Amino acid sequence: MAEQAQETVDTSPQPILPFLELGSSPHLRGFKCVCGAAYLDVKRVACSKCGEQNKFSPIKLSNKGKVYVFSVVHQSFPGIKTPYVTAIVDLPEGVSVRANLVDVVPEQLQKEPNKYFDMPVEMVTNVVAKDREGHDVVSFAFRPSK
Ligand SMILES: [Zn+2]
Repeated sequence: MAEQAQETVDTSPQPILPFLELGSSPHLRGFKCVCGAAYLDVKRVACSKCGEQNKFSPIKLSNKGKVYVFSVVHQSFPGIKTPYVTAIVDLPEGVSVRANLVDVVPEQLQKEPNKYFDMPVEMVTNVVAKDREGHDVVSFAFRPSK
């Protein structure tokens, strides 16, 4: 039983979603088909562009993209602060990601929506919770590019 004396407790931050890579340069992980099509989801078995199966290799997706469309959310679950902005962000690899927009004023986006379509944004990570084992649970969002 002496071997168990060296048990270490891993409390490193954990991503909230499997395709979020943390570490020194957090990024989203996608998959690229041999034909060039890129995807975010990992459970895909065939490429919808060329039909090839299991010809995917992992790629690091860009942290910068553009707002394709957004919505200002006024009602949510208890404990979730509203209003907030949810968006679909297009990444240069051809992948679309749903995420919240932060560092924006929701009322401003409602007032002048046309100013925010195609807005350049960059990914940021933030700790949203702590799990039962004491890990910080990290999520991601996009904010206007600096
Ligand atoms: Zn393909």
